[in-house]
Amino acid sequence: MNLKITHSIVQSQQCIFCGARAIKHGFRKNVFNTVQKYQCPKCKKIFSIDRNKRYRYPYQVREFALKLHKEGVSLRKIAETLGHKSRVNVSHITVKNWIKNDKKN
Ligand SMILES: [Zn+2]
Repeated sequence: MNLKITHSIVQSQQCIFCGARAIKHGFRKNVFNTVQKYQCPKCKKIFSIDRNKRYRYPYQVREFALKLHKEGVSLRKIAETLGHKSRVNVSHITVKNWIKNDKKN
């Protein structure tokens, strides 16, 4: 396992939470594609980059936004919450698009 981690540092991804260099942490598969997961050695958070869909934001951030939406939180409030909690700056328009795309799936 440690050997694999050393190897994977070469293909690293910046942590979306703190900006440190994250390392590969296996794959997560869904119906449509395979998503590469990463773990940040600094803040220990795991996130994933959906390469096929080329989203600018990780799946978890979108899922969190969708969860808030289902709870009845307004788009602007969702964008604000993401900024505070995940340090991800999104507009309420982006959140609106996520919701729209989610309904298509
Ligand atoms: Zn981090």
